[in-house]
Amino acid sequence: MNKEKQSPDYAKMSHATAMSLGLMRGRMYRGAVNRCVNLLVHYPEGCSANCAYCGLAKRRPGAYEEKSFIHVDWPLFSIEQVIDAVNRAPHYVRRTCISMITNGKCATHTLSMTEQLTRKTKLPVSVLTSPTILNGDFLHEAKGCGADKIGIALDLATPVLFDRYRGKGVSGPHRWERYWQFMEEGLSVFGPHNVGAHLMVGIGETEKDMVDLMDRLWQMGVDSHLFSFFAEEGSGLDTMPQPPWSTYLRVQLARYLIESEISTPSQMTFDETDAIRDFGVEPKTVEAAIRSGIPFMTTGCVDENGQVACNRPFGNCLPDVRQWNYPYEPNQEEIELIQENIFETAP
Ligand code: SF4
Repeated sequence: MNKEKQSPDYAKMSHATAMSLGLMRGRMYRGAVNRCVNLLVHYPEGCSANCAYCGLAKRRPGAYEEKSFIHVDWPLFSIEQVIDAVNRAPHYVRRTCISMITNGKCATHTLSMTEQLTRKTKLPVSVLTSPTILNGDFLHEAKGCGADKIGIALDLATPVLFDRYRGKGVSGPHRWERYWQFMEEGLSVFGPHNVGAHLMVGIGETEKDMVDLMDRLWQMGVDSHLFSFFAEEGSGLDTMPQPPWSTYLRVQLARYLIESEISTPSQMTFDETDAIRDFGVEPKTVEAAIRSGIPFMTTGCVDENGQVACNRPFGNCLPDVRQWNYPYEPNQEEIELIQENIFETAP
């Protein structure tokens, strides 16, 4: 274990980012590219939380250095290497993000990394925050260091699920109320639509739970960034299946209709299992949205033109025509497959 290589001088980088920046060799399925420089703070002792689905959880077996996160290795680079690579990045790379973990050291270090990245590169910087170890001052400081957006990984759709999988149920430190309070504080510092909530579909909630949550967030000024549950080997939930594809597609389409202000949860109808039965708009509107392919593309922090920059290629599914977040515009074959499956009843 290399104790001296840690943040703020070093950061982990997603495999897809390292490929897009030319720091690792390889090509992605259908020529996908990663438009965001996704970084993760790094300490040998790791994260002190214990979220049941997370690859970095303290109780997940294995040395922290060797733990995968969202199924891939995150190689370690010095901040100088990162800055140099960002300054030589292809034109499609539009944003940098620093992900925090639950480790008391990382607040100050994240600020200094943010300051360096905004001063020495041209890309805007997001911080994926860890509300449990932060107070409101951090938000002002992060903005002062140049960050323009923050993310908050709420992940779970209800207080009961949150407590079961991130809080008391796993002897974890996270509290639902703190996350919501931090979201309000984030909005007051960064402004509407500069705060994004990570939401994970398929971890015990109903489609209606997720629809109501996405609407509540949108009404507050928070954008929903959707992820699908995809079990991490050796984590507390490693036998739980991925959500049915049709469920994920319906939640994606509902998010698109809510955030485009085309429909609302009160217009939608749900079946006896609280799965979406009807989106509450004309069939031709639903058809046009599906044919555009846009609702099924990854949602994440945007670039200066409002296009999603954080497109996380294959972050929560394997490369295939069926994807739980397309990192590019789905092609005709993929759209036809979506049309055939979106109204399937989940098993
Ligand atoms: S959506 Fe992407 S860029 Fe934005 S906070 Fe989350 S991980 Fe970072």
